[in-house]
Amino acid sequence: MADGLNVALSVVVPCYNEDAGIDELYLRVSAACEQQGQTYEIVLVNDGSADTTRDKIFALTERDHHVVGIDLARNYGHQIALSAGLEFCRGHRILILDADLQDPPELLGPMMAKMDEGYDVVYGLREAREGESWFKLATASLFYRVLGKLSNVGIPANTGDFRLINRRTLDHLNAMPERYRFIRGMVSWIGLRQCAFPYQRHSRFAGETHYPLRKMLILAIDAMTSFSVTPLRFASHFGIAFGLLGIATLIYTIFAWAAGQVLPGWTSLASIMLILGSVQLLVLGIFGEYLGRMYMEAKRRPLFIVNQVVSRAAVEAGHAR
Ligand code: UDP
Ligand code: MG
Repeated sequence: MADGLNVALSVVVPCYNEDAGIDELYLRVSAACEQQGQTYEIVLVNDGSADTTRDKIFALTERDHHVVGIDLARNYGHQIALSAGLEFCRGHRILILDADLQDPPELLGPMMAKMDEGYDVVYGLREAREGESWFKLATASLFYRVLGKLSNVGIPANTGDFRLINRRTLDHLNAMPERYRFIRGMVSWIGLRQCAFPYQRHSRFAGETHYPLRKMLILAIDAMTSFSVTPLRFASHFGIAFGLLGIATLIYTIFAWAAGQVLPGWTSLASIMLILGSVQLLVLGIFGEYLGRMYMEAKRRPLFIVNQVVSRAAVEAGHAR
């Protein structure tokens, strides 16, 4: 493996508790890379796995000089682990892949061909998704619809992080310092020439999803707050709506009083207070989401800490990267 940027292709894979599938992943990815007949590296990021993923990655680096193992200091989450791999990889073109083989590595060839047509980004567009519950599909589609409404960056629906990007795009991506990372959105934000690549998404080869509802919600909130400040305006919208409602009730009460009718007030008062109170708290919560993120960004901590980088090339050259 050459130093500098002399690798034609990098495949970057974040891995968290994937020991059941990682050998299969390695076999299929290296077969796909070998077919290209160019220099390549496979960057496997261990995101603080609790199983033997780390040992398996290190074993692969010993077996094959194409493999670079990056061991993070703890579990930082999918998007950060991916960012770590993207920062360390050195290819002119970079394939982003999940470790669970839901996105077939064999599509590398056709995606490379598509990029040869002059695109900077070739992103996978999921045509069919095997083995996903209707709930995941429904929430995903709702999420992209809301995100599309809120943000002015066109983030295509039904995409994941599975994509081929070139060095130019990656340099821009790596230059974005934010820690709440929604990488597919950030790539859309960059722009340049992008093209969809429709494919069939399979079910997981082994193991279970690491995106239960809670983590999906967090990713969704990260995405919304990273790509839109529209929710901050909800406060004024609510304010205007409830103000108008208040005036209307007042007018109604005055007319009723003039007609000789005194309206007993406490039920309506109580409900109005409850509604207003809840809206105020909701709006405060939205402000809080943004404020908290600003606070975390303001600390300017590094995105991740690397425990160790292992590759045979580095060991043979007598230095660890
Ligand atoms: N992943 C990670 N850190 C985490 C959770 C997930 O690096 O904290 C990796 C995981 O190993 C996989 C990818 O991110 O390669 C996507 O995760 P998963 O397949 O569980 O998500 P799903 O496909 O179900 O959305
Ligand atoms: Mg998956």
